[in-house]
Amino acid sequence: MQHRIIVLGAGYTGAIAAGRLAKRLRREDVAITLVNAEPDFVERVRMHQLAAGQDLKPRPFSEMLAGTGVDLRLAKVTDVDVDAMTVAVIDANGAEELAYDTLVYALGSGWNAQGVPGTAEHAYEIAGRPGALRLRERLARLDAGQTVVVVGGGLTGLEAATEIAEARPDLDVALAARGELGDWLAPKGREHLRKVFGKLGITVHEHAAVTGVEADRVTTADGKAIPAAVTVWTTGFAVHPIAKATTLEVTGTGQIVVDGTMRSVSHPDVYAVGDAAMAMGPGDKPLRMSCASGTPAAWQAADAIAARLTGGKLPNAPIRYFNQCISLGRKEGLIQYVTADDRAVQAVLTGRLAAVYKELVCKGAAWGVANPTLGLPTRRRRVTRERATAGSAVKAPA
Ligand SMILES: Cc1cc2nc3c(=O)[nH]c(=O)nc-3n(C[C@H](O)[C@H](O)[C@H](O)COP(=O)(O)OP(=O)(O)OC[C@H]3O[C@@H](n4cnc5c(N)ncnc54)[C@H](O)[C@@H]3O)c2cc1C
Repeated sequence: MQHRIIVLGAGYTGAIAAGRLAKRLRREDVAITLVNAEPDFVERVRMHQLAAGQDLKPRPFSEMLAGTGVDLRLAKVTDVDVDAMTVAVIDANGAEELAYDTLVYALGSGWNAQGVPGTAEHAYEIAGRPGALRLRERLARLDAGQTVVVVGGGLTGLEAATEIAEARPDLDVALAARGELGDWLAPKGREHLRKVFGKLGITVHEHAAVTGVEADRVTTADGKAIPAAVTVWTTGFAVHPIAKATTLEVTGTGQIVVDGTMRSVSHPDVYAVGDAAMAMGPGDKPLRMSCASGTPAAWQAADAIAARLTGGKLPNAPIRYFNQCISLGRKEGLIQYVTADDRAVQAVLTGRLAAVYKELVCKGAAWGVANPTLGLPTRRRRVTRERATAGSAVKAPA
C-alpha cells in the first residue's frame, strides 16, 4: 500500500518539497501528487521584470518534473479538510476530493491591499503573474510623461520602481515609502540606493503612508495628493484564506503555525512551507516571506517527512539569512549582507557586480526547483509498512 503525499502549490517551496521527497523515498512506497493551478513554474521573484516588459523563460512542469515520479495534478485547490484528511480541487472536468496520508501546504501568497480604500478598483500589483501581466499591458499604453507611483518602500517596491524607470525612462516614476528610502540598510547601501534612484530619475516620497487610491492619484495620511496615472501596490503579501478556514492552528493573518521541521503544531500529518507557513527563525523571529527562507524550509520539511516515514534521523539544520539581494533594474543591484536573523551589517556589494550576483541568485532559485537535492546523489529509502499506514505522525528518532 502506497503512502499518499499531496503537496499543494508548485511554487518555489512546494515544487522543491515534492521533488525532494521523490528523491528520498522509493517510488513503490509513496504516491506523490503535486497540485497546482498552472501548468508551468512561475518565477515569482521576476514579476517586476515581467511587468516592465521582459519575457521570462518558459518553464513547463512537463519538463521540470519529467522522470521524477511526481504526479502533477493541474487543478485549483478550493478547500482542505484536515480532520477528514482530504483536499477539494476543481479542474476543467469538475470538482473532486483527494485523500492524503501526509499533506504539504505550500499555496504561497498574493498581494496585500491592507484594506486601503480604492486599492481593489485602481491599484495594480505584481505579487503573481496575472497581476504582473495586467500591469505590463497598462504600462505599455502609457504615454511619455505620465506618472507611475509605486507604493511600498520594501524590497519589492524598490525592485519594481527601478525596473519600471529603467525600462521606461520616458515615464515619471515615483516611490512612496512609509519611512525613509532603504532605512533598514547599512549606510553604504542607503547611499547607493539614493544614487541609483537619482540616476533613474525616480521621485521619492518619504514618510508617505498612503491611505487612499483614486484613478489618478494616491493620498497620504497627512493629506497630500500624489498624481498617479498608474499605482503599483507593493506593501507586503497576504496568504490565501484556505488554511484559515480549516481547524489548523494559524496566526491572525492565516499562516499555518509550524515547528522546526515545518510540521503543523496542531495536525501532525500536515506540513506547511513558504509564505503560507509561520515558522520561527534565528533570534526567535518569524521567518520572512521569501525564497531565501522558504527554500531551506522546503528541504527541511521533505527531509523530516522522509525521516518519519523511514525511521531515519530528523534533520536539524537551522535556517538562517546571509544577504538581501535587490535588483535595481538590469544594470544595477544591491547585495546587503545580514546577520543570521536578517539585520543589516556594514558590508554591501553594489553596482554591476551586484546585478550579476542577483541574476545568478534568481537563476539558482529556479535551478534549485528542478534539482531539489542540489544535484547530490541520494538513496531512496524504504517506507516501513507500519509507518506508511500510521502516516507521518509516527515518531522518528530525534
Ligand atoms: C516581485 C517579487 C520579487 C521577489 N523577490 C524576492 C527575492 O529577491 N528574494 C526572495 O527571497 N524572495 C523574493 N520574493 C518573494 C518570493 O517570491 C516568495 O516568498 C516565494 O515565491 C514564496 O514561495 P511559495 O512556494 O511559498 O509560494 P509561491 O512561489 O507563490 O507558489 C505558490 C504556488 O501555489 C499555486 N497556488 C496558489 N493558490 C492555489 C490554489 N488555490 N490552487 C492551486 N494552486 C494554487 C500558485 O499558482 C503557485 O504556483 C519576491 C516576490 C515578488 C512578488
